[in-house]
Amino acid sequence: MSRDRRNSYETKVFLELARRSVSGSWAYVLVVAATGLLTDYPTRYPEAYWLTAVAMAVAIAARFWVPRRLPRKFSGEPGLWRFRFRLAILGGPLVWGAFLALTNVLYGEDWVCALLVILTTGIAAGATTAFHPDLKLHRLFQFLLWLPVIVVALLGYGTGPALGFLGVIFVGYLLWQGEEQARHYWRAIRVRERLAEKTDQLEEHNRIKDEFLAVITHDLRNSIQSVILFSHNLKRRSHDPVLLELGGHLRESGNYMKELLDDLHDLARLGMQALKMKAEEVDLVSLVERVLAEQTQPASEGQIELKYQNRESHVNLVGDAVRIRQILANLVSNAIKYNKPGGWVEVRTRLEGEEAVVEVADSGVGIDPEHQARVFDLFSRVGNEPVDGSGLGLAITRQLVELHQGSLELESELDNGSVFRVRLPRNGPSALAS
Ligand code: ADP
Repeated sequence: MSRDRRNSYETKVFLELARRSVSGSWAYVLVVAATGLLTDYPTRYPEAYWLTAVAMAVAIAARFWVPRRLPRKFSGEPGLWRFRFRLAILGGPLVWGAFLALTNVLYGEDWVCALLVILTTGIAAGATTAFHPDLKLHRLFQFLLWLPVIVVALLGYGTGPALGFLGVIFVGYLLWQGEEQARHYWRAIRVRERLAEKTDQLEEHNRIKDEFLAVITHDLRNSIQSVILFSHNLKRRSHDPVLLELGGHLRESGNYMKELLDDLHDLARLGMQALKMKAEEVDLVSLVERVLAEQTQPASEGQIELKYQNRESHVNLVGDAVRIRQILANLVSNAIKYNKPGGWVEVRTRLEGEEAVVEVADSGVGIDPEHQARVFDLFSRVGNEPVDGSGLGLAITRQLVELHQGSLELESELDNGSVFRVRLPRNGPSALAS
């Protein structure tokens, strides 16, 4: 970990400690108040009690003040900030430990003393949970809390020896527990840090890959476009049947390659979040009619009947017309591709509340339930398709629908056809710029 990173990390940890220390401070306030209310300590020894209460109030005020003020004031000196923070935290145990020791000196075997012992052990245990990420702070906290008690024990006042013995055992246990917790805590932090670094690296690699893919597909598309043009020229100018046949193959392969490159290019731009979406008024009915008109030839080649069902006067929405057309074209061409001779494809449009709904239904080969969730994944093909494909179309379609903040549903039965249902918000996605 670099020095800067470590510093900012430790500052974060200290802010977390500051947050954790708040509940402990309230516990101190309650305990001092309860001692005042439940015992005769304030009336018998008013100086000692009020001195303790004031000292505790100062320590707690410092504990609240330091984390709030210092990070800003000493943002360039995190070390100094941490030092003062530790000091602010340590006021509490020092005062509290002295309070317990003094009570022991004054009351000896009194029940008040026993009550304070219980409260002190609670505070010590709570501090272990709260401050363990900073072992130094934790050790000092325990040391200052128990030091007066041990001194009184050594001097032999009241229950001092028993109390001192209890203190030593208990503090030993808390120190060991603090070490354990600190080890787990820092190990988890290191793992999280490494994961964050790896995620950053992976995101960067992914971005470079998308950029590379976008550039390469763009250039390849241009080259393949020239091949397609060349094959068209050949068709117009040549009368040689062999050349015409070769030109036909060239055009077919060229068109397939261009479609593939178009898909890969879209995919790369979607990955880079570089696909600019427009927000415009879209007339869904005329868009469907245009897509169906474009698909007449492949449909008639596959002996598929194209149908359109729409009972609304108009189905308008706000979105990107080019991308919605791409969504429809993908779904309709799939419905034709994965159909059977003599089958049908029906597009249905309707309004449902705030949504415009388009369904593309077909009488085709269908998809078994096992594969239905996966067909929207990249490069996913069911495996028994009668035609070639890349497995990119539905993945792109889903991303385009999601960019419109819509949803894409599938109902399908093997050998009995499929229905792909697209729901798009009529008011358009909030993120689209107009
Ligand atoms: P491609 O068509 O290039 O294979 P898609 O992403 O468009 O890629 O489709 C993924 C897979 O989903 C297809 O290979 C096919 O198995 C299945 N599929 C898509 N649409 C239909 C449909 N209308 N009927 C049956 N299967 C379909």
